[in-house]
Amino acid sequence: MRDKPIITEIEGISKSFIEWLIIEGDDHLIAKKRTTPLQLYALESLISRMRQKHKKRSDIEGDLTKRKTGFKGELALDYELGKLQGNNYYIFQDLRLKSGHLYFQLDTLLLTKHFGLILEIKNIKGTLFFDNEFGQMIRTYEDKEEGFKDPLIQAGAQRSLLREFLKENKLETIPIEYFIVISHASTILKSSQGYHDVKERVFHADHLIQKIASLQKKYKNIQVKKSKLDEIKQKLLSSHSPLLSIPLEYYQITKEEILPGVHCPSCSHLGMERIYGKWSCPKCKFTSVTAHEQAIIDYLLLLNPTISNSQCRKFLGLKSRKSAHIILNRMNLEKTGTNKGTVYRLKEGEAHIMGNRHINRGSGT
Ligand SMILES: [Zn+2]
Repeated sequence: MRDKPIITEIEGISKSFIEWLIIEGDDHLIAKKRTTPLQLYALESLISRMRQKHKKRSDIEGDLTKRKTGFKGELALDYELGKLQGNNYYIFQDLRLKSGHLYFQLDTLLLTKHFGLILEIKNIKGTLFFDNEFGQMIRTYEDKEEGFKDPLIQAGAQRSLLREFLKENKLETIPIEYFIVISHASTILKSSQGYHDVKERVFHADHLIQKIASLQKKYKNIQVKKSKLDEIKQKLLSSHSPLLSIPLEYYQITKEEILPGVHCPSCSHLGMERIYGKWSCPKCKFTSVTAHEQAIIDYLLLLNPTISNSQCRKFLGLKSRKSAHIILNRMNLEKTGTNKGTVYRLKEGEAHIMGNRHINRGSGT
């Protein structure tokens, strides 16, 4: 029997980063701590429950890889920011805010009494060419060209929205800067002629602390009092609205296409059988008492934000109402309603119960 590791391992992210996050994340300077985005888990769940030959499978696998790479870059940036000295700033990791009717996402925001700083991290290898004329960033890697939106334009737009947000909420205005941080030291940066913003605002991660120091020189005067800065902090935290995961809608996949059942934690076979209070794999004979937990999480991430006893039985292939009751109550879920109206949902901020799914485990029929 395998125990679940406490720390979720994401492929390609060193465990020390994650441990660092957890230890340093308690530091009072980190006003809002980054957690693994629910979408990462939801995409993993989705892939594991699609038929092997589903026509959208490879696109979704590609999206997951991109998101993981992006997340890895964000963690690398958090690590760099950990080198900042002093305690005159707040760091917000992963904020999603609304201005007017538009939502906008900030990977990392740094606030001081002197200025605010939006940091966008790009975890991209190869050569990056910033094209002023077409508003594009072109990446060349292994003889292949790929176009992206110019992150400088995106960050500039985020700045406008953040300014708007402060105004709408009658908060103090503060100068806001933005940088694009490139996480790979080997990534080569190029730009079209006269695109001065690239020189000023795009650089490799190891220059970050020095760049922040230069902003500290630029904005010598205090722009907001500590009490006003704290007001901004509180408003940012209370306004954060995390993106709910709805991958089925996004990829236009129907609920009927999601395969039910319990995966074998050992060989990934979908279709474990319940025998005397244990799950048993007909393929590799592995047994588990907790294999259903991932299935219930998959259900909650993909099919419905709540699960009832009968939905649980149907999805897991369980006959006994009592077993389903025990299973659901043993998981760390939020419970509402009574008797047959009882439903269970994921607790907010409880993403870490997601377990230790390994991607590309080759499931489905
Ligand atoms: Zn198995």
